[in-house]
Amino acid sequence: MTDHATDYLVIGAGAVGLAFADTLLAETQDATITIVDRHGKPGGHWNDAYSFVALHQPSAFYGVNSLQLGSGLKDEHGLNAGLYELASGPEVSGYFDAVMRRRLLPSGRVRFLPMTDHLGDGRLRSLLSSDESRIEVRRKLVDATYYGTAVPSTREPKYEVEPGARLVTPNDLPHLARAPGGPPARFVIVGAGKTAMDVGVWLLTSGVPADRVTWVMPRDSWLLNRRNTQPGPEFFHDAIGGQAASFEAFARAGSVDELFDRLEAAGVMLRIDQSARPGMFHYATISEGEVELLRGIGDVVRMGHVRAIGREGMRLDGGDRAMPADTLYVDCTASAVERRPSVPVFEPGRVVCQLVRAPQPAFSAALVAYVEAHYPDDEAKNALTGVVPFPDRPEDYPRTVLANLRNEAAWGRDHALRRWMRSSRLDGFGKVVDAVRPEEADKLAVLARLRDAAMPAAANLQRLAA
Ligand SMILES: Cc1cc2nc3c(=O)[nH]c(=O)nc-3n(C[C@H](O)[C@H](O)[C@H](O)COP(=O)(O)OP(=O)(O)OC[C@H]3O[C@@H](n4cnc5c(N)ncnc54)[C@H](O)[C@@H]3O)c2cc1C
Repeated sequence: MTDHATDYLVIGAGAVGLAFADTLLAETQDATITIVDRHGKPGGHWNDAYSFVALHQPSAFYGVNSLQLGSGLKDEHGLNAGLYELASGPEVSGYFDAVMRRRLLPSGRVRFLPMTDHLGDGRLRSLLSSDESRIEVRRKLVDATYYGTAVPSTREPKYEVEPGARLVTPNDLPHLARAPGGPPARFVIVGAGKTAMDVGVWLLTSGVPADRVTWVMPRDSWLLNRRNTQPGPEFFHDAIGGQAASFEAFARAGSVDELFDRLEAAGVMLRIDQSARPGMFHYATISEGEVELLRGIGDVVRMGHVRAIGREGMRLDGGDRAMPADTLYVDCTASAVERRPSVPVFEPGRVVCQLVRAPQPAFSAALVAYVEAHYPDDEAKNALTGVVPFPDRPEDYPRTVLANLRNEAAWGRDHALRRWMRSSRLDGFGKVVDAVRPEEADKLAVLARLRDAAMPAAANLQRLAA
């Protein structure tokens, strides 16, 4: 039975679904949009996150086009001092709620169905009543769930947890004071991605001495220096200068290792342990202050992945590691991006939102919506939205940058699209570059470096990617 009809059915009310809907609404006159989500509120994974989570990139580039996130101020204290604010998890959740209430629903063209599972092909099931219905989709079904973002509180760890072992998610940490038995003798952070880093920083800034923390690090990670991601013109030499230095490294590196060494020497990339060669790059972004703090954790276990935890210790790929009985393990192993093969963004009757500029999921979704609204057919649309593969290992990075560059080149040739990008609050640094005045010789010199390195960078990246 068809219960309802809509032009666009958007599956997922996270950053991607909302950024898509927001731009589609702005760029069309009459399209109707229905958004469904299993959660009770908009905001996707932010609904499930630990209380001390925050964005790791400035608020300026996150969210939807039509509503600013945050106040545009810089932090004056803490490990992000001097840099633009990072919205906290509760702020992001409140923001997405406001996007729905103040922007999308008042248009009269958007309908939001919370607590609703999309079973496929427009079939919906209420998670509260189990009632099923079908929605007729007149134009497109929009899959805004492709990255399968997971946080530890919503999935089971992939290792065995033997009886008696004490394992929590980051969400449980702030409630430890109320847990039976009081604080543990030792904390073990399991995992080495951004969540693990957040947990490390939170423990150390919440009173846990660094020598009571063990960190299981299957792979070290290259990290982006947050200083180079700052939106304000006063950071021109960090942000655009960082890009120029990156392009010079892309142009000159003889190998992927050398590429990352050059990026590190230029201050663009950071790593926590400078004696360990990272085997992971997920665009995690961090401040130098946070890196310095995390370097205080001396007991780093590099024995592969955890296979089991028990009362007496843990079993890892590389052998056993004894731990005191009263150890608390903190599971930080959920992957923010599920590895799935890229598919075309536009197919008949369907849009699959994926990254078209890494690492910006919100900008990517907004651009895909703009393209959906203004171009005649799937071929023209796909030509502007080549999928940018999300990297896992350092070796993947050249391919990611090349895909970014291909899209930027295609967008640069399209005047209307370029104009839209410049007006988009989610478009990172275009406005900073446009604001350079003829008398600012130092900035023009940076732009010249960027221009000079662009072609050699593209050529050398092809070689490195191969
Ligand atoms: C802790 C953390 C911090 C991050 N910080 C940043 C940052 O600073 N900057 C940045 O750019 N990116 C950041 N990211 C990455 C970024 O948040 C995510 O890429 C983005 O928010 C993901 O949005 P999404 O809409 O793809 O996914 P989600 O937020 O997971 O939303 C997808 C939604 O789809 C719903 N859904 C799935 N399947 C169905 C179905 N069948 N029926 C109905 N609903 C369904 C889910 O319930 C969910 O609400 C961060 C990620 C994490 C985990």
